[in-house]
Amino acid sequence: MKIFISADMEGISGIVSMEQIDPGARDYERARRMMTREVNTVVEAALEYGATEIVVNDSHDNMDNILIEELNPKAALISGSPKPLSMMQGIDESFDAVFFVGYHARAGTAQAVVDHTYAFRVISAKINGKPMSEAGLNGRLAGYFGVPVAFLSGDQNAVACAKQELNNPVGVVVKEAVGRNAAMIHPFDVVKERLRAGMAEAMKNIKTFEPTVEKGSVELEVSLSISGMADMALLIPGTIKKDGRTVIYTAKDYMDAYRVFRAMLVLTSGIR
Ligand SMILES: [Zn+2]
Repeated sequence: MKIFISADMEGISGIVSMEQIDPGARDYERARRMMTREVNTVVEAALEYGATEIVVNDSHDNMDNILIEELNPKAALISGSPKPLSMMQGIDESFDAVFFVGYHARAGTAQAVVDHTYAFRVISAKINGKPMSEAGLNGRLAGYFGVPVAFLSGDQNAVACAKQELNNPVGVVVKEAVGRNAAMIHPFDVVKERLRAGMAEAMKNIKTFEPTVEKGSVELEVSLSISGMADMALLIPGTIKKDGRTVIYTAKDYMDAYRVFRAMLVLTSGIR
């Protein structure tokens, strides 16, 4: 059984702010160890329940956060950036299931640690009219390849987003957010037990999860924080303006929509 893990950092149990997870931040080295430890817990549980091949894609910021020297040797790591498929680089139809570790809620969610959607400049990203978190966007890319999302860990609202946007993955709440930069956090022994219980449930039922598939053409609607960013997104042929900061692209399929979203992020970076 082959599994794909996409690991972000905002939803790791000990993390409450960017002060910990910006490369170079005061607590960054500690945060990397916490992230690697949570990924290892998920890897080890997957192996216990029959996984034979595990690919971990580092999905936060520069995407070189996970410490390879501490990663379980049964897992292979995709490290670094940029990657065309970003948080989902490496996914294809050969995988049996996808697991999201350390994920966070979509932009604009209250009581959610560092809520955002891919970039702080994205106010919302909608697929066929529905607002998406990174779990929803990435889970649909897995769905494009016929692969279901079986598991997500993060705060309570990261889990809520995933339950709304995907076909009912197992959700593990590793911390209870009380604001954007505050949460009830727990010693790792407690977190580890929660992750292991969630992984047991996901792995025992691994054949029952359904991929989240967008059939036919897909409407991508993106609102950006500054009008000049929308102007740059409009450079993509076929993109139309909805209002000063919102653009719409109608894609032939979900892969096309995701690629255009990625291109919009590249085109709009650095505009102030
Ligand atoms: Zn992140």
